[in-house]
Amino acid sequence: MEIPRSHPRAESLRIREALKKGFEEGLVVEQGLMAHGRGEAFDYLLGEKTIPLAADAIKIAAAALLLADKPVISVNGNVAVLTPKEVVDLAEAAGAKIEVNLFYRTPQREKAIEKRLRSAGAREVLGVDPSATAELPGLESLRRKVDQKGILVADVVLVPLEDGDRTETLRRLGKTVITIDLNPLSRTAQTASVTIVDNLVRAMPLLIKEVNRLRGEKPDLLRKTVEQFDNRVNLGKCISYIAERLMHISKSTGKMSDNSNGEQ
Ligand code: ATP
Repeated sequence: MEIPRSHPRAESLRIREALKKGFEEGLVVEQGLMAHGRGEAFDYLLGEKTIPLAADAIKIAAAALLLADKPVISVNGNVAVLTPKEVVDLAEAAGAKIEVNLFYRTPQREKAIEKRLRSAGAREVLGVDPSATAELPGLESLRRKVDQKGILVADVVLVPLEDGDRTETLRRLGKTVITIDLNPLSRTAQTASVTIVDNLVRAMPLLIKEVNRLRGEKPDLLRKTVEQFDNRVNLGKCISYIAERLMHISKSTGKMSDNSNGEQ
């Protein structure tokens, strides 16, 4: 579908089209399309921009990735379609491994996502070799599968658009979990160590930039920055941000309606 550049929601429509194509090509599942709709709704509430609280969390996430011994970036269908190049660039910048990690796992889907990541420049893609399959204790069915060279042994895992159960399991296993999730109320957002309440397509380039900016910093300083961060406090502020924004919009909408009544 041709999307006119002048369309006020051109970027949002472009993302929808990309996901629809990803669905037709077998990378994205129906549930991924639904998750996207949920994300879009929250993005509307945020004003479709990176709010300062998200920028703060991006800084902490970058520091945590740089401090990690074994960082891993987890990739599902939506992530592979929306930011494949950014995943590769971030992995390179942070010295992280890339792992395909799916809720709805089939060998064809794994292969399609691996192919997409390799076309974007990935040299190694974990999570697709059946001989490297390990299991996360405490999770059921295919969702427990991880790579023994990747998430299983990782100390820091970036899981954009993850589900709550797996986030909880990763935390229970002592890992630092960074997520990018537009919904500050989701279980993932609430249980992660660092939650970036932002759209993946905006947050990933900023995260790469921040990793490159902080790379020269002393580890002690980075550690202090990470330790001072309280994810629950930041999430609370994100929820207040939305609430205050809505109050402001509701007041100005009411005023507009008062004015138009007056003019009639
Ligand atoms: P949970 O299990 O964590 O309570 P959930 O049931 O919504 O949440 P999923 O469907 O796996 O779990 O979550 C997808 C999450 O990703 C949703 O919270 C949605 O708001 C968010 N999301 C969707 N698209 C994007 C995007 N482009 N950028 C950031 N977040 C997104």
